[in-house]
Amino acid sequence: MSNYPALHLLVGGEQISGDGRDSEDVINPATGEILGRLVHANAADLDRALEGAEKGFREWRKTPADKRAAILTKAAGLIKERAGEIAHHLTLEQGKPLGEAKGETIYAAMLLEFYAGECKRLYGRTLVRPEGSRVEVQYHPVGPVAGFAPWNFPTLNVMRKIGGALAAGCSVIVKPSEETPASGIAIVQALLDAGVPGDAVQCVFGVPDQVSRHLLGSQIIRKLTFTGSTAVGKHLAKLAAEDLKINTMELGGHGPVLVFNDSDVDQALDTMAATKYRNAGQVCVSPTRFLIEEGVFEKFRDGFVERAKALKVGNGMEDGTQMGPMANSRGVDGIQEKIGDAVEKGAKLMTGGERIGNQGFFHQPTVLSEVPTDAQIMNEEPFGPVAILNPMSSEDAMIEEANRLPYGLAAYAWTSDPTRRRRLAAEVEAGMLAINTGGVSAVDAPFGGVKWSGYGSEDGREGVMACMVPKAIHEG
Ligand code: NAD
Repeated sequence: MSNYPALHLLVGGEQISGDGRDSEDVINPATGEILGRLVHANAADLDRALEGAEKGFREWRKTPADKRAAILTKAAGLIKERAGEIAHHLTLEQGKPLGEAKGETIYAAMLLEFYAGECKRLYGRTLVRPEGSRVEVQYHPVGPVAGFAPWNFPTLNVMRKIGGALAAGCSVIVKPSEETPASGIAIVQALLDAGVPGDAVQCVFGVPDQVSRHLLGSQIIRKLTFTGSTAVGKHLAKLAAEDLKINTMELGGHGPVLVFNDSDVDQALDTMAATKYRNAGQVCVSPTRFLIEEGVFEKFRDGFVERAKALKVGNGMEDGTQMGPMANSRGVDGIQEKIGDAVEKGAKLMTGGERIGNQGFFHQPTVLSEVPTDAQIMNEEPFGPVAILNPMSSEDAMIEEANRLPYGLAAYAWTSDPTRRRRLAAEVEAGMLAINTGGVSAVDAPFGGVKWSGYGSEDGREGVMACMVPKAIHEG
Protein backbone atom coordinates (compact mmCIF):
# COMPACT_ATOMS: atom_id res chain seq x y z
CA MET A 1 0.00 0.00 0.00
CA SER A 2 1.15 3.50 -0.78
CA ASN A 3 0.22 5.30 2.43
CA TYR A 4 -1.78 7.94 0.55
CA PRO A 5 -4.19 10.09 2.59
CA ALA A 6 -8.00 10.20 2.43
CA LEU A 7 -9.17 13.05 0.17
CA HIS A 8 -11.88 15.64 0.79
CA LEU A 9 -13.05 19.15 0.10
CA LEU A 10 -12.42 21.84 2.73
CA VAL A 11 -15.45 24.13 2.86
CA GLY A 12 -16.09 26.40 5.84
CA GLY A 13 -13.31 24.57 7.67
CA GLU A 14 -15.19 21.29 7.32
CA GLN A 15 -13.84 18.18 5.60
CA ILE A 16 -16.45 17.04 3.08
CA SER A 17 -16.42 13.69 1.33
CA GLY A 18 -18.85 11.15 -0.12
CA ASP A 19 -22.63 11.42 0.33
CA GLY A 20 -23.48 10.57 -3.26
CA ARG A 21 -21.24 13.23 -4.78
CA ASP A 22 -19.43 12.51 -8.05
CA SER A 23 -15.85 11.39 -7.68
CA GLU A 24 -12.78 10.35 -9.67
CA ASP A 25 -9.68 8.21 -9.23
CA VAL A 26 -6.27 9.66 -8.51
CA ILE A 27 -3.53 7.75 -10.32
CA ASN A 28 0.14 7.19 -9.48
CA PRO A 29 1.93 8.16 -12.73
CA ALA A 30 4.88 5.90 -11.95
CA THR A 31 2.84 2.71 -11.57
CA GLY A 32 -0.67 3.35 -12.89
CA GLU A 33 -1.95 2.33 -9.44
CA ILE A 34 -5.15 3.98 -8.17
CA LEU A 35 -4.10 5.93 -5.10
CA GLY A 36 -7.45 7.20 -3.92
CA ARG A 37 -10.84 8.53 -4.83
CA LEU A 38 -11.45 12.28 -4.99
CA VAL A 39 -14.89 13.69 -4.31
CA HIS A 40 -16.23 16.53 -6.48
CA ALA A 41 -17.99 19.57 -5.05
CA ASN A 42 -21.63 19.76 -6.11
CA ALA A 43 -23.40 23.04 -6.86
CA ALA A 44 -24.59 23.39 -3.25
CA ASP A 45 -21.00 22.92 -1.98
CA LEU A 46 -19.76 25.64 -4.33
CA ASP A 47 -22.56 28.00 -3.25
CA ARG A 48 -21.69 27.32 0.37
CA ALA A 49 -18.03 28.02 -0.38
CA LEU A 50 -18.99 31.31 -2.05
CA GLU A 51 -21.15 32.46 0.88
CA GLY A 52 -18.34 31.44 3.20
CA ALA A 53 -15.79 33.37 1.13
CA GLU A 54 -17.87 36.51 1.54
CA LYS A 55 -18.10 36.05 5.32
CA GLY A 56 -14.47 34.98 5.52
CA PHE A 57 -13.41 38.10 3.66
CA ARG A 58 -15.22 40.37 6.12
CA GLU A 59 -13.56 38.60 9.06
CA TRP A 60 -10.05 38.19 7.66
CA ARG A 61 -9.68 41.71 6.23
CA LYS A 62 -10.37 43.11 9.71
CA THR A 63 -7.80 40.85 11.33
CA PRO A 64 -4.88 43.15 12.25
CA ALA A 65 -1.91 42.83 9.92
CA ASP A 66 0.46 41.62 12.63
CA LYS A 67 -2.00 38.90 13.63
CA ARG A 68 -2.41 37.83 9.99
CA ALA A 69 1.38 37.78 9.72
CA ALA A 70 1.70 35.61 12.84
CA ILE A 71 -0.88 33.10 11.58
CA LEU A 72 0.71 32.84 8.14
CA THR A 73 4.17 32.45 9.73
CA LYS A 74 2.82 29.66 11.92
CA ALA A 75 1.33 27.93 8.86
CA ALA A 76 4.69 28.16 7.07
CA GLY A 77 6.28 26.46 10.11
CA LEU A 78 3.69 23.67 10.00
CA ILE A 79 4.33 23.10 6.29
CA LYS A 80 8.07 22.84 6.97
CA GLU A 81 7.46 20.37 9.82
CA ARG A 82 5.19 18.30 7.59
CA ALA A 83 7.30 18.64 4.43
CA GLY A 84 8.51 15.02 4.48
CA GLU A 85 5.00 13.62 4.60
CA ILE A 86 3.60 16.14 2.11
CA ALA A 87 6.45 15.39 -0.31
CA HIS A 88 5.71 11.67 -0.07
CA HIS A 89 2.10 12.28 -1.16
CA LEU A 90 3.23 14.73 -3.83
CA THR A 91 5.62 12.22 -5.42
CA LEU A 92 2.98 9.48 -5.32
CA GLU A 93 0.42 11.60 -7.16
CA GLN A 94 2.67 13.66 -9.45
CA GLY A 95 5.78 11.55 -10.02
CA LYS A 96 8.72 13.93 -9.44
CA PRO A 97 11.69 12.69 -7.37
CA LEU A 98 11.10 12.85 -3.63
CA GLY A 99 13.93 15.35 -3.09
CA GLU A 100 12.40 17.75 -5.63
CA ALA A 101 8.97 17.31 -3.99
CA LYS A 102 10.41 18.19 -0.59
CA GLY A 103 12.35 21.14 -1.98
CA GLU A 104 9.22 22.48 -3.66
CA THR A 105 7.21 22.17 -0.45
CA ILE A 106 9.85 23.93 1.67
CA TYR A 107 9.98 26.66 -0.97
CA ALA A 108 6.19 27.03 -0.75
CA ALA A 109 6.60 27.53 3.02
CA MET A 110 9.33 30.13 2.44
CA LEU A 111 7.06 31.99 0.04
CA LEU A 112 4.35 32.07 2.70
CA GLU A 113 6.88 33.40 5.24
CA PHE A 114 7.80 36.16 2.83
CA TYR A 115 4.15 37.03 2.27
CA ALA A 116 3.59 37.03 6.04
CA GLY A 117 6.25 39.74 6.32
CA GLU A 118 4.63 41.71 3.51
CA CYS A 119 1.33 41.88 5.47
CA LYS A 120 3.01 44.45 7.68
CA ARG A 121 4.37 46.52 4.79
CA LEU A 122 1.16 47.32 2.92
CA TYR A 123 1.65 51.05 3.09
CA GLY A 124 -0.35 53.74 1.38
CA ARG A 125 0.93 57.30 0.83
CA THR A 126 -0.19 60.81 1.62
CA LEU A 127 -0.07 63.66 -0.88
CA VAL A 128 0.12 66.91 1.07
CA ARG A 129 -0.78 70.01 -1.01
CA PRO A 130 0.89 73.38 -0.28
CA GLU A 131 -2.51 75.01 0.32
CA GLY A 132 -3.33 72.49 3.07
CA SER A 133 -5.54 69.94 1.36
CA ARG A 134 -4.37 66.34 1.16
CA VAL A 135 -5.01 63.06 -0.57
CA GLU A 136 -4.51 59.81 1.25
CA VAL A 137 -3.87 56.82 -1.03
CA GLN A 138 -4.89 53.60 0.70
CA TYR A 139 -4.69 50.00 -0.50
CA HIS A 140 -7.51 47.58 0.27
CA PRO A 141 -7.89 43.85 -0.38
CA VAL A 142 -9.89 43.37 -3.58
CA GLY A 143 -12.28 40.79 -2.13
CA PRO A 144 -12.76 37.02 -2.36
CA VAL A 145 -10.35 35.36 -4.80
CA ALA A 146 -10.84 32.20 -6.89
CA GLY A 147 -7.58 30.39 -7.66
CA PHE A 148 -7.02 27.49 -10.08
CA ALA A 149 -3.70 25.68 -9.76
CA PRO A 150 -2.20 23.01 -12.03
CA TRP A 151 -0.54 19.69 -11.25
CA ASN A 152 3.11 20.35 -12.12
CA PHE A 153 4.02 22.03 -8.79
CA PRO A 154 1.20 20.80 -6.59
CA THR A 155 2.24 22.58 -3.37
CA LEU A 156 3.98 25.68 -4.77
CA ASN A 157 1.29 26.52 -7.31
CA VAL A 158 -1.41 26.25 -4.65
CA MET A 159 0.63 28.50 -2.35
CA ARG A 160 1.04 31.03 -5.17
CA LYS A 161 -2.76 31.20 -5.47
CA ILE A 162 -3.33 31.50 -1.72
CA GLY A 163 -0.36 33.29 -0.13
CA GLY A 164 -0.61 36.74 -1.71
CA ALA A 165 -4.39 36.78 -1.36
CA LEU A 166 -4.33 35.97 2.37
CA ALA A 167 -1.50 38.43 3.03
CA ALA A 168 -3.53 41.16 1.33
CA GLY A 169 -6.56 40.37 3.54
CA CYS A 170 -8.61 38.55 0.88
CA SER A 171 -10.42 35.27 1.35
CA VAL A 172 -9.65 32.59 -1.22
CA ILE A 173 -11.28 29.52 -2.72
CA VAL A 174 -8.63 27.37 -4.38
CA LYS A 175 -9.14 24.49 -6.80
CA PRO A 176 -5.91 22.51 -6.98
CA SER A 177 -5.59 20.06 -9.85
CA GLU A 178 -7.76 16.95 -9.52
CA GLU A 179 -4.63 15.00 -10.53
CA THR A 180 -2.65 16.13 -7.46
CA PRO A 181 -5.21 16.81 -4.73
CA ALA A 182 -3.45 15.59 -1.58
CA SER A 183 -0.68 18.20 -1.86
CA GLY A 184 -3.18 21.06 -2.19
CA ILE A 185 -5.31 19.78 0.69
CA ALA A 186 -2.18 19.57 2.89
CA ILE A 187 -1.32 23.24 2.21
CA VAL A 188 -4.84 24.45 2.98
CA GLN A 189 -5.03 22.24 6.09
CA ALA A 190 -1.80 23.75 7.45
CA LEU A 191 -3.29 27.24 7.06
CA LEU A 192 -6.45 26.17 8.87
CA ASP A 193 -4.42 24.49 11.64
CA ALA A 194 -2.45 27.71 12.09
CA GLY A 195 -5.62 29.73 12.63
CA VAL A 196 -6.81 31.06 9.26
CA PRO A 197 -10.64 31.09 9.56
CA GLY A 198 -12.35 28.19 7.76
CA ASP A 199 -14.26 30.62 5.56
CA ALA A 200 -11.15 32.56 4.58
CA VAL A 201 -9.37 29.65 2.88
CA GLN A 202 -11.31 26.85 1.22
CA CYS A 203 -10.43 24.04 -1.16
CA VAL A 204 -12.73 22.48 -3.77
CA PHE A 205 -12.43 19.96 -6.60
CA GLY A 206 -14.61 18.99 -9.54
CA VAL A 207 -14.83 19.12 -13.31
CA PRO A 208 -12.57 22.17 -13.91
CA ASP A 209 -14.86 23.87 -16.42
CA GLN A 210 -17.91 23.44 -14.19
CA VAL A 211 -16.16 24.71 -11.06
CA SER A 212 -14.62 27.73 -12.78
CA ARG A 213 -17.91 28.69 -14.48
CA HIS A 214 -19.74 28.41 -11.14
CA LEU A 215 -17.24 30.44 -9.13
CA LEU A 216 -16.56 33.05 -11.81
CA GLY A 217 -20.29 33.38 -12.46
CA SER A 218 -20.71 34.75 -8.93
CA GLN A 219 -20.30 38.43 -8.16
CA ILE A 220 -18.85 37.44 -4.77
CA ILE A 221 -15.54 36.55 -6.45
CA ARG A 222 -13.61 39.75 -7.26
CA LYS A 223 -10.36 38.25 -8.54
CA LEU A 224 -9.35 35.26 -10.65
CA THR A 225 -5.86 33.80 -10.47
CA PHE A 226 -4.96 30.97 -12.83
CA THR A 227 -1.87 28.98 -13.71
CA GLY A 228 -2.09 26.68 -16.73
CA SER A 229 -2.18 26.71 -20.49
CA THR A 230 -2.65 29.84 -22.59
CA ALA A 231 -5.79 28.37 -24.17
CA VAL A 232 -7.52 27.83 -20.81
CA GLY A 233 -6.23 31.18 -19.55
CA LYS A 234 -7.86 33.04 -22.44
CA HIS A 235 -11.12 31.18 -21.82
CA LEU A 236 -11.12 32.02 -18.09
CA ALA A 237 -10.15 35.66 -18.71
CA LYS A 238 -13.25 35.99 -20.90
CA LEU A 239 -15.45 34.51 -18.16
CA ALA A 240 -13.94 36.90 -15.61
CA ALA A 241 -14.43 39.85 -17.95
CA GLU A 242 -18.23 39.30 -17.86
CA ASP A 243 -18.13 40.60 -14.29
CA LEU A 244 -15.01 42.80 -14.62
CA LYS A 245 -13.06 40.73 -12.13
CA ILE A 246 -9.33 41.43 -12.02
CA ASN A 247 -6.99 38.60 -13.05
CA THR A 248 -3.55 37.17 -12.62
CA MET A 249 -2.67 34.85 -15.50
CA GLU A 250 0.44 32.66 -15.30
CA LEU A 251 0.34 30.77 -18.59
CA GLY A 252 2.52 28.80 -20.98
CA GLY A 253 6.02 29.63 -22.18
CA HIS A 254 8.65 28.41 -24.64
CA GLY A 255 11.88 29.41 -22.92
CA PRO A 256 14.73 30.44 -25.23
CA VAL A 257 18.31 29.83 -24.02
CA LEU A 258 20.90 32.03 -25.76
CA VAL A 259 24.35 30.42 -25.48
CA PHE A 260 27.12 32.69 -26.81
CA ASN A 261 30.66 31.82 -27.95
CA ASP A 262 32.04 33.77 -24.97
CA SER A 263 30.13 31.74 -22.36
CA ASP A 264 31.46 29.20 -19.86
CA VAL A 265 30.11 26.24 -21.83
CA ASP A 266 30.74 23.58 -19.17
CA GLN A 267 28.91 25.58 -16.53
CA ALA A 268 26.07 26.31 -18.97
CA LEU A 269 25.80 22.60 -19.76
CA ASP A 270 25.76 21.41 -16.15
CA THR A 271 23.18 24.01 -15.17
CA MET A 272 20.89 23.91 -18.18
CA ALA A 273 20.75 20.12 -18.63
CA ALA A 274 19.61 19.78 -15.00
CA THR A 275 17.15 22.66 -15.44
CA LYS A 276 15.77 21.20 -18.68
CA TYR A 277 14.91 17.78 -17.26
CA ARG A 278 13.71 18.97 -13.83
CA ASN A 279 10.17 17.70 -13.29
CA ALA A 280 10.48 15.88 -16.64
CA GLY A 281 10.35 19.25 -18.41
CA GLN A 282 6.80 19.93 -17.19
CA VAL A 283 7.65 23.41 -16.01
CA CYS A 284 6.24 26.67 -17.36
CA VAL A 285 9.72 28.25 -17.20
CA SER A 286 11.46 25.20 -18.65
CA PRO A 287 14.30 25.99 -21.07
CA THR A 288 13.10 24.65 -24.42
CA ARG A 289 14.70 26.37 -27.46
CA PHE A 290 18.49 26.33 -27.09
CA LEU A 291 19.88 28.94 -29.50
CA ILE A 292 23.60 28.28 -29.64
CA GLU A 293 26.15 30.47 -31.35
CA GLU A 294 27.99 28.47 -34.04
CA GLY A 295 31.44 28.58 -32.39
CA VAL A 296 30.27 26.49 -29.43
CA PHE A 297 27.42 24.56 -31.04
CA GLU A 298 29.11 21.17 -31.40
CA LYS A 299 30.65 21.25 -27.94
CA PHE A 300 27.32 22.25 -26.38
CA ARG A 301 25.32 19.69 -28.37
CA ASP A 302 27.64 16.79 -27.56
CA GLY A 303 27.85 17.74 -23.89
CA PHE A 304 24.09 18.08 -23.63
CA VAL A 305 23.44 14.70 -25.26
CA GLU A 306 25.96 13.07 -22.92
CA ARG A 307 24.20 14.54 -19.88
CA ALA A 308 20.71 13.57 -21.15
CA LYS A 309 21.85 9.97 -21.70
CA ALA A 310 23.35 9.78 -18.21
CA LEU A 311 20.14 10.75 -16.40
CA LYS A 312 18.63 8.08 -14.18
CA VAL A 313 14.92 7.87 -14.97
CA GLY A 314 12.70 5.99 -12.54
CA ASN A 315 10.08 6.01 -9.83
CA GLY A 316 10.46 9.25 -7.87
CA MET A 317 10.21 7.29 -4.61
CA GLU A 318 13.47 5.45 -5.34
CA ASP A 319 16.87 6.75 -4.23
CA GLY A 320 18.99 8.10 -7.03
CA THR A 321 16.12 8.86 -9.43
CA GLN A 322 16.89 12.09 -11.28
CA MET A 323 13.81 12.21 -13.50
CA GLY A 324 10.43 10.67 -12.74
CA PRO A 325 7.55 9.83 -15.06
CA MET A 326 5.48 12.47 -16.81
CA ALA A 327 2.43 13.34 -14.72
CA ASN A 328 -0.20 11.92 -17.06
CA SER A 329 -0.68 10.04 -20.32
CA ARG A 330 -1.70 13.26 -22.16
CA GLY A 331 1.83 14.54 -21.65
CA VAL A 332 3.46 11.42 -23.13
CA ASP A 333 1.10 11.40 -26.13
CA GLY A 334 1.69 15.12 -26.74
CA ILE A 335 5.46 14.83 -26.64
CA GLN A 336 5.46 11.77 -28.91
CA GLU A 337 3.40 13.64 -31.48
CA LYS A 338 5.71 16.67 -31.39
CA ILE A 339 8.92 14.58 -31.68
CA GLY A 340 7.45 12.61 -34.61
CA ASP A 341 6.43 15.80 -36.40
CA ALA A 342 9.88 17.40 -35.87
CA VAL A 343 11.77 14.35 -37.18
CA GLU A 344 9.45 14.13 -40.17
CA LYS A 345 10.23 17.77 -40.95
CA GLY A 346 14.01 17.12 -40.85
CA ALA A 347 15.10 17.51 -37.20
CA LYS A 348 17.91 15.21 -36.01
CA LEU A 349 17.02 12.96 -33.07
CA MET A 350 20.26 12.94 -31.04
CA THR A 351 19.02 10.80 -28.14
CA GLY A 352 15.77 9.55 -26.62
CA GLY A 353 12.52 9.96 -28.49
CA GLU A 354 10.63 7.02 -27.02
CA ARG A 355 8.30 6.31 -24.14
CA ILE A 356 9.76 3.89 -21.60
CA GLY A 357 7.96 0.62 -20.78
CA ASN A 358 4.23 0.20 -20.53
CA GLN A 359 3.73 0.88 -16.85
CA GLY A 360 3.17 4.48 -15.80
CA PHE A 361 3.99 7.47 -18.00
CA PHE A 362 7.76 7.41 -18.46
CA HIS A 363 9.50 9.09 -21.37
CA GLN A 364 13.18 9.19 -22.34
CA PRO A 365 15.12 12.42 -21.91
CA THR A 366 15.25 13.57 -25.52
CA VAL A 367 17.46 15.90 -27.56
CA LEU A 368 16.53 17.18 -31.02
CA SER A 369 18.94 19.28 -33.06
CA GLU A 370 18.62 21.48 -36.12
CA VAL A 371 14.86 21.62 -35.78
CA PRO A 372 13.16 23.60 -38.57
CA THR A 373 11.09 26.61 -37.57
CA ASP A 374 7.92 25.16 -39.02
CA ALA A 375 8.02 22.10 -36.74
CA GLN A 376 5.16 22.06 -34.24
CA ILE A 377 7.61 21.79 -31.31
CA MET A 378 9.30 25.08 -32.31
CA ASN A 379 5.97 26.86 -31.93
CA GLU A 380 4.02 25.06 -29.21
CA GLU A 381 5.20 24.58 -25.64
CA PRO A 382 6.72 21.07 -25.41
CA PHE A 383 5.96 20.63 -21.67
CA GLY A 384 8.04 17.47 -21.50
CA PRO A 385 11.63 16.16 -21.40
CA VAL A 386 12.71 17.42 -24.83
CA ALA A 387 15.48 19.92 -25.60
CA ILE A 388 15.73 21.63 -28.99
CA LEU A 389 19.33 22.59 -29.90
CA ASN A 390 19.77 24.89 -32.90
CA PRO A 391 22.94 26.60 -34.20
CA MET A 392 22.68 30.38 -34.65
CA SER A 393 24.85 32.81 -36.58
CA SER A 394 24.67 36.05 -34.56
CA GLU A 395 23.34 37.83 -31.49
CA ASP A 396 20.73 39.60 -33.60
CA ALA A 397 19.45 36.32 -35.03
CA MET A 398 19.30 34.81 -31.54
CA ILE A 399 17.29 37.71 -30.14
CA GLU A 400 14.98 37.63 -33.14
CA GLU A 401 14.31 33.91 -32.66
CA ALA A 402 13.88 34.34 -28.89
CA ASN A 403 11.17 36.96 -29.54
CA ARG A 404 9.55 35.22 -32.53
CA LEU A 405 6.83 33.44 -30.53
CA PRO A 406 3.85 35.06 -28.84
CA TYR A 407 5.11 33.70 -25.49
CA GLY A 408 7.29 35.63 -23.05
CA LEU A 409 7.73 33.89 -19.71
CA ALA A 410 11.31 32.85 -18.87
CA ALA A 411 14.42 33.33 -21.02
CA TYR A 412 18.02 32.34 -20.30
CA ALA A 413 21.38 33.58 -21.56
CA TRP A 414 24.97 32.48 -21.10
CA THR A 415 27.65 35.10 -21.86
CA SER A 416 30.66 36.70 -20.21
CA ASP A 417 30.17 40.03 -21.97
CA PRO A 418 28.71 42.64 -19.57
CA THR A 419 27.53 45.01 -22.31
CA ARG A 420 25.75 42.17 -24.07
CA ARG A 421 23.93 41.42 -20.80
CA ARG A 422 22.52 44.92 -20.80
CA ARG A 423 21.39 44.58 -24.43
CA LEU A 424 19.70 41.27 -23.67
CA ALA A 425 17.97 42.71 -20.61
CA ALA A 426 16.57 45.47 -22.82
CA GLU A 427 15.64 43.42 -25.86
CA VAL A 428 14.55 39.91 -24.87
CA GLU A 429 10.76 39.88 -24.45
CA ALA A 430 10.19 37.93 -21.24
CA GLY A 431 8.86 38.36 -17.72
CA MET A 432 12.04 36.81 -16.33
CA LEU A 433 15.57 36.64 -17.77
CA ALA A 434 18.25 34.45 -16.15
CA ILE A 435 21.84 35.34 -17.13
CA ASN A 436 24.52 32.75 -16.28
CA THR A 437 22.13 30.93 -13.94
CA GLY A 438 19.28 28.46 -14.26
CA GLY A 439 17.06 30.09 -11.62
CA VAL A 440 14.24 32.50 -12.41
CA SER A 441 12.33 32.29 -9.14
CA ALA A 442 12.87 33.98 -5.77
CA VAL A 443 10.24 34.53 -3.08
CA ASP A 444 10.86 38.28 -3.07
CA ALA A 445 10.94 38.80 -6.86
CA PRO A 446 7.94 38.96 -9.21
CA PHE A 447 7.19 35.78 -11.16
CA GLY A 448 5.10 36.13 -14.31
CA GLY A 449 5.13 36.68 -18.04
CA VAL A 450 4.30 38.99 -20.91
CA LYS A 451 2.34 38.50 -24.15
CA TRP A 452 0.59 35.08 -24.25
CA SER A 453 2.42 34.00 -21.11
CA GLY A 454 0.00 36.12 -19.12
CA TYR A 455 -0.08 39.21 -16.95
CA GLY A 456 0.06 40.11 -13.31
CA SER A 457 2.76 38.70 -11.04
CA GLU A 458 2.97 36.22 -8.24
CA ASP A 459 5.65 36.26 -5.52
CA GLY A 460 7.43 39.38 -4.33
CA ARG A 461 5.63 42.50 -3.23
CA GLU A 462 3.84 42.39 -6.59
CA GLY A 463 2.12 39.13 -5.59
CA VAL A 464 0.37 40.87 -2.69
CA MET A 465 -0.33 44.12 -4.51
CA ALA A 466 -2.02 42.08 -7.27
CA CYS A 467 -4.74 41.29 -4.70
CA MET A 468 -5.25 44.92 -3.61
CA VAL A 469 -7.01 47.93 -5.06
CA PRO A 470 -6.21 51.60 -4.39
CA LYS A 471 -8.64 54.05 -2.82
CA ALA A 472 -7.93 57.81 -2.81
CA ILE A 473 -9.31 59.81 0.13
CA HIS A 474 -9.42 63.54 -0.72
CA GLU A 475 -9.50 65.94 2.25
CA GLY A 476 -10.12 69.66 1.84
P1 NAD B 1 -4.97 21.91 -19.71
O1 NAD B 1 -4.90 23.16 -20.47
O2 NAD B 1 -6.10 20.98 -19.94
O3 NAD B 1 -4.98 22.18 -18.16
C1 NAD B 1 -4.02 22.99 -17.52
C2 NAD B 1 -4.53 23.25 -16.09
O4 NAD B 1 -5.72 24.02 -16.18
C3 NAD B 1 -4.95 21.98 -15.35
O5 NAD B 1 -4.52 22.10 -14.02
C4 NAD B 1 -6.46 21.95 -15.44
O6 NAD B 1 -7.06 21.36 -14.30
C5 NAD B 1 -6.81 23.41 -15.50
N1 NAD B 1 -8.01 23.69 -16.25
C6 NAD B 1 -8.34 23.22 -17.47
N2 NAD B 1 -9.52 23.72 -17.88
C7 NAD B 1 -9.96 24.53 -16.87
C8 NAD B 1 -11.12 25.33 -16.69
N3 NAD B 1 -12.06 25.44 -17.63
N4 NAD B 1 -11.26 25.99 -15.53
C9 NAD B 1 -10.30 25.92 -14.57
N5 NAD B 1 -9.18 25.19 -14.69
C10 NAD B 1 -9.01 24.50 -15.84
O7 NAD B 1 -3.61 21.17 -19.98
P2 NAD B 1 -2.88 19.95 -19.30
O8 NAD B 1 -2.90 18.81 -20.25
O9 NAD B 1 -3.31 19.69 -17.91
O10 NAD B 1 -1.46 20.59 -19.26
C11 NAD B 1 -0.73 20.78 -20.46
C12 NAD B 1 -0.58 22.21 -20.84
O11 NAD B 1 -0.96 23.09 -19.83
C13 NAD B 1 0.89 22.46 -21.06
O12 NAD B 1 1.19 22.34 -22.42
C14 NAD B 1 1.12 23.82 -20.54
O13 NAD B 1 0.99 24.75 -21.59
C15 NAD B 1 0.01 24.09 -19.61
N6 NAD B 1 0.39 24.09 -18.20
C16 NAD B 1 1.05 25.17 -17.76
C17 NAD B 1 1.44 25.22 -16.45
C18 NAD B 1 2.19 26.39 -15.93
O14 NAD B 1 2.87 26.25 -14.93
N7 NAD B 1 2.04 27.57 -16.54
C19 NAD B 1 1.15 24.17 -15.59
C20 NAD B 1 0.44 23.08 -16.09
C21 NAD B 1 0.06 23.06 -17.40
